[in-house]
Amino acid sequence: MQAMKVAVVGGGLGGLTAAALLARGGCDVTLFERSKHLGGRAQTSEVEGFRFNLGPHALYRAGAALRVLGRLGVKPQGDIPAQTGGYALRAGRLHTLPRGPVSLMTTDVLSLAGKLEVARLLAGLGRIDTDALGSLSTREWLDTRLAREDSRALLAALVRVATYCADLTALSAQAAVRQVQAATAANVLYVDGGWSTLVEAVALQAREAGARLELSTRVAAVVLREGGGRVEGVRLADGTVRAVDAVVVAGGPAEVAALVPGDAALARDAQEAVPVKAATLELGLSGLPRPDALFALGVDGPWYASVHSASARLAPEGGAMIHVAKYLGGSDAAPKEAELEAVMDALQPGWRARVVARRFRPALTVSEGLPLAAKGGLAGRPTVEVPHLGGLYRVGDWVGGEGMLADAALASAEAVERALLQGTVAPRRRAVGA
Ligand SMILES: Cc1cc2nc3c(=O)[nH]c(=O)nc-3n(C[C@H](O)[C@H](O)[C@H](O)COP(=O)(O)OP(=O)(O)OC[C@H]3O[C@@H](n4cnc5c(N)ncnc54)[C@H](O)[C@@H]3O)c2cc1C
Repeated sequence: MQAMKVAVVGGGLGGLTAAALLARGGCDVTLFERSKHLGGRAQTSEVEGFRFNLGPHALYRAGAALRVLGRLGVKPQGDIPAQTGGYALRAGRLHTLPRGPVSLMTTDVLSLAGKLEVARLLAGLGRIDTDALGSLSTREWLDTRLAREDSRALLAALVRVATYCADLTALSAQAAVRQVQAATAANVLYVDGGWSTLVEAVALQAREAGARLELSTRVAAVVLREGGGRVEGVRLADGTVRAVDAVVVAGGPAEVAALVPGDAALARDAQEAVPVKAATLELGLSGLPRPDALFALGVDGPWYASVHSASARLAPEGGAMIHVAKYLGGSDAAPKEAELEAVMDALQPGWRARVVARRFRPALTVSEGLPLAAKGGLAGRPTVEVPHLGGLYRVGDWVGGEGMLADAALASAEAVERALLQGTVAPRRRAVGA
């Protein structure tokens, strides 16, 4: 039997994973990446010996990404964030961050009544049935579960750090609670060397399984069969057409729509997606002025700062690699760098004299589409199959019913594998994970 020919559009972690899984399953895969390097938003830059991810990246240890990477034989190295040195940030000042029963009782970011309310909620968190929360917004959920403003502010901060989302009126409580459950149950991993190590490892798996990875090659359009309804190829920016049986687009909803001009359903998906954005400041310091202050989370504002090099190898000997971020809501303007610097002034006074490398990004797209309460939560996200166009599939952190962020990207890559390989292709190799 002839191997099914598949074009994967996009060489980020999602596209590479799809390429590796499909090639291992026996497909004849070519991946096209428009930029001259792989990785997309999972790229890491080396600046003066510091490894800068594109904003703070943490891998959920209970998430789909780690599961799928495991199936590919990729075992990320690194560690969980430091369990000491965490602070809540309120009105520009540091307070004890409630992390467990003792700090919850000693912190002054909560009143006594607030402490009891939060303790009760967190004790039962793992048992909350999230299936029923799809159409409820996170804001509504917080308002119904917590009577006190200070408790709601703390829970909102936990949701922001777990989801990256500052727009709690739009975000489905189902997705928010699942993320917080996952974060509190199994924590996250800061990856040694940065997320480009994951990209390189998955790319190696894809190549070894026979996938061809073509860089600096933009796909301009999906070619449809005469009369429409089914894909038959991709047209590259230089005009050449590659005939394929299936196309997997691993980009955002706007990119999918642009590849099939005039398709009203894909245009609507792109219009209705609500992206998650953040401003980020990466810092490489020669050392920490306060070695005991490793993490700050805003409770009266959408702030985050974390010394990632305290847990993962991301800095030269003695140095410190810190990510600072502001979570942006839908209507928020990109902030000035000084706003993020103020978080560092609180966490690490004197940091400016130790800067070796820095990079500011005022508005990065963290996720191409959040699970919306208005659409019923995770089940309301676009499916991997494009129902009216046979052979067209999509992968990304805005697709499918499982997870958020990279977990959604890799879970959707796995869902494409299931959809494409079900009984249609004679496996060329042992099925992955079998
Ligand atoms: C600041 C920030 C922080 C984040 N933190 C976390 C975190 O803590 N945990 C987590 O799980 N996730 C996090 N993420 C999200 C994570 O990085 C993404 O979910 C993941 O990398 C998405 O991978 P992807 O392959 O789906 O998309 P992308 O990485 O966006 O890749 C898409 C690729 O497609 C290419 N492309 C698009 N159109 C075309 C075309 N027509 N032809 C050829 N190539 C094309 C692009 O160049 C790009 O390389 C964060 C993201 C950001 C920006």
